[in-house]
Amino acid sequence: MKRILFTILMLTVWVSAKTPRLNITLKHDSAGEQKRKEQIERLAEKYDLAKYTITPDIVIDQQAANHSSPVLTQNLLFLDNDDRALSAYVHEQAHWLMMEHHRRQVREMLPELIRLYPNIDITRPHGDGYQGTSYMHLVVLMLEWHALEDLLGASRARAVMEFKRQDHYKDLYATVMDHRNEMEGFLKRYGVKW
Ligand SMILES: [Zn+2]
Repeated sequence: MKRILFTILMLTVWVSAKTPRLNITLKHDSAGEQKRKEQIERLAEKYDLAKYTITPDIVIDQQAANHSSPVLTQNLLFLDNDDRALSAYVHEQAHWLMMEHHRRQVREMLPELIRLYPNIDITRPHGDGYQGTSYMHLVVLMLEWHALEDLLGASRARAVMEFKRQDHYKDLYATVMDHRNEMEGFLKRYGVKW
């Protein structure tokens, strides 16, 4: 009996080893923000996001642009599209991965990326409007793509990337999609991975 209880206990521990508990705060507590919270919680339940949750602290703000710092913030975009919503989540978490583990390498990475892809248009909607963060976004977008492939499979991941390529950061998404092998090598050289 004791052994059975122990086994059940261990099984429970094992099964619950997935997405850590998320600490989600709503800025306006509107119906839309509540819906977004439910969507993120549903995704966190459906997929194992443990690897892709660098910070568990999330703010939902219907008036904000999605951003990572100082607190990961999500707006109401893609309420009706779980795959795209998941991409917004892992994108901001990828920024956290870079902030937490690769901050010091940016000084080396940046000139190398500029040398590799000197003709990127950094103005919106092609880039993010700034040279440094546009180029560093190339690494973030690769991490986003890796996470989506792992969670959704290659073809659904590609569908999300294709959509975003037409929507915003167009030149940045195009660059990683058109130079995937080269960018894989770049990430490997700097040891950047989830
Ligand atoms: Zn970003």
